[in-house]
Amino acid sequence: MPGPVKLLEIRGLRTWFELEEGTARAVDGVDLDVREGEVLGLVGESGCGKSVTALSILNLIPAPPGRIVSGEILFRGRDLLKLSRPELRAVRGGDIAMVFQEPMTSLNPVFTVGWQIEEAIRFHQGVGDRRELAARGVRLMGKLGIPDPERRRGAYPHELSGGMRQRVMIAMALACSPALLIADEPTTALDATLQAEILELMLRAKAESGDAAILLITHDLAVVAETCGRVAVMYAGRIQELADADPLFREPLHPYTRGLLDSLPRPGTGKGTRLRAIPGTVPRSLSWPSGCRFQTRCPLAQDRCRRVEPELAEVRPGRRVRCHLVGPEGRA
Ligand code: SF4
Repeated sequence: MPGPVKLLEIRGLRTWFELEEGTARAVDGVDLDVREGEVLGLVGESGCGKSVTALSILNLIPAPPGRIVSGEILFRGRDLLKLSRPELRAVRGGDIAMVFQEPMTSLNPVFTVGWQIEEAIRFHQGVGDRRELAARGVRLMGKLGIPDPERRRGAYPHELSGGMRQRVMIAMALACSPALLIADEPTTALDATLQAEILELMLRAKAESGDAAILLITHDLAVVAETCGRVAVMYAGRIQELADADPLFREPLHPYTRGLLDSLPRPGTGKGTRLRAIPGTVPRSLSWPSGCRFQTRCPLAQDRCRRVEPELAEVRPGRRVRCHLVGPEGRA
């Protein structure tokens, strides 16, 4: 039986930033695939390289100080890093769309939200008729739970609430039925009820608009458990564990993944019970630790961990882990 079709293949990606203090190796050898139609969660604490990975996919790294030092990003077999500017512009928003945490950074404050959604449809789908554009825009806004879309179409971003603006961003992203939607902390700025609502809408709209794959970037494992089929755990610029969501939540193998899960509140946890936090902080990308990059915080670190960096090894079918103590027979 043929395996799942790979939509996006990231190979050996390194994205570095030249700063006054030195070179920050924010993304430092990432290998990751996104399959057609799946929801893949990319998780880890802030400063692990998740957002830089996302921005690298569409070549949105501010240069200088940033630059993609090496690697390949193959989208349906085409290396996005080798595309010309016009080719890349056609891919952005057309084949691959992005939703950011703060919609105000992506919405243009001087145009109405309706115009911005319709412009996305016009540019990527070649629809010229203004009335058809308006009808499509209104339909999409309605689908994303924006009440009274005919009226809201004429609103400017600052006239909408944060939740509404995020819906507009997702409507813009889905306007052209992208094959891949990259959502970078799309609900972090919203309260819990709105978060759940927006995620639900995003998944429903994804299914209705041609079953796009979603790369969901978040530090929130509860969100991942609700929405993702597979999970990649990132730490210190590299993937540390990659697995289907169910086995990962049932039995996390990498000590970092275990630390992340242990820090989640569990049902039945009494009020006042202290959650277990991973000791220490994420190291700075200017000087990642030698050997295993998690060794400075890992409760199981041994001498070998401080000297030799483990490979991201396939320990079970479909499951990869970067730890000296995890092998096919089990975990540390
Ligand atoms: Fe911990 Fe060593 Fe595994 Fe790194 S290689 S996660 S330090 S046990």
